[in-house]
Amino acid sequence: MTNKFKYFIGNWKMYGNLSSFKIIQNIEKYIKKNQNKFKKIKVIFCVPSTLIYPFFLKFKKSKISIGGQNCHFSKNPGPFTGSLNAQMAKNVGAKYLILGHSENRKEGENNHLINKKIENALCENLNVIFCFGETIEEKKRARTFQVIKKQINECIKAKFDLNKILFAYEPVWSIGSGKTPSINDLSKVIKFIKKYINKKYKFKKFKILYGGSVNAKNIENFSKINEIDGFLIGGASLSQKKFIDIINNYYKKPKWKL
Ligand code: PEP
Repeated sequence: MTNKFKYFIGNWKMYGNLSSFKIIQNIEKYIKKNQNKFKKIKVIFCVPSTLIYPFFLKFKKSKISIGGQNCHFSKNPGPFTGSLNAQMAKNVGAKYLILGHSENRKEGENNHLINKKIENALCENLNVIFCFGETIEEKKRARTFQVIKKQINECIKAKFDLNKILFAYEPVWSIGSGKTPSINDLSKVIKFIKKYINKKYKFKKFKILYGGSVNAKNIENFSKINEIDGFLIGGASLSQKKFIDIINNYYKKPKWKL
């Protein structure tokens, strides 16, 4: 079993209602019951805005943290119908915010806006789950490394506190598709990101996550890449069984380093 601390983060997207807390409650019970095995994990659920406060109240005494999935770029309140800013998310109990998710980039969010959102979230002392990754066209044109570099460069400023940012590599073509990178390809990308961030920001201790169609089967393979500090899990995080199976299977096999 790896000795490193690992993150398992659920992204509920636009799913869930007030009674869905039971899914998280059952996961919490399971982890508590097996706490010797799961001493070194951090579980976070990023839920729709309507559920942040009720779930924060339910889980504030537990080890599970609640987060949101986006925020507006404006630091101050203002005439932005349908939006909430980082301060509002924090005020209702969010500890983490997913920012830069490809589903929001598809709706028009760009690196400039994501950079502002990250800055505001950090100002509120929130933790940021910063998503980035290439599209299938970019992958086919062998542009993965350039795209990642540009996204990191434009979204993450040198003055940001990298201790508060979890870097989530999420190839766009893998999200919700059932397709995942080969272990060899993923390992190369993770190594590239590590090296790039180490060099550019002169910071070594940052955390790197993988996201994209993670399930109970493929997690055993992903667990072979020890450099990955955790996983951002979409679809499978809506099922307590699937989420628990992912955590269990992660710790099932002895690790070998690539
Ligand atoms: C995500 O939404 O960040 C994600 C990784 O989704 P999925 O696990 O469903 O591919």
